[in-house]
Amino acid sequence: MAQLTEASFSAGLARGLLLLQKCASCGSVQKGVRARCAQCGSRTMEPYEASRNGTVYARTRIFRAPSAAFRSIVPYDLCLVDLAEGARIMGHCAPEVEVGDKVTARIATIADENLLFFEKAMGPGAVAPGGEEA
Ligand SMILES: [Zn+2]
Repeated sequence: MAQLTEASFSAGLARGLLLLQKCASCGSVQKGVRARCAQCGSRTMEPYEASRNGTVYARTRIFRAPSAAFRSIVPYDLCLVDLAEGARIMGHCAPEVEVGDKVTARIATIADENLLFFEKAMGPGAVAPGGEEA
């Protein structure tokens, strides 16, 4: 597979894939698109399909959107998620998502863009929508 770029990251989302970069030398999964590994400095980066599972590190609610398209959906929620692979990425999230929650991302069309949308993961003991034990 070719080197990951912002364009191929977006193309991946359009195909339902969360593509990140992994260092071929040390195996470190990178945050964002990088020319060199943040851990070892190697330039041998390869595309990597991430699990989309992680833990919420931070979250916020947006009331002042950066563009007209996003102004039409305020307020909305954003979160920073530490993926199971170690990279921290930003995405939209459901209003009930809180710091420390285990979450899973799907790819949603938001303001005409394909974006990550995190929801609470439904694991053992999780409370399903409607309040029933999963
Ligand atoms: Zn490396």
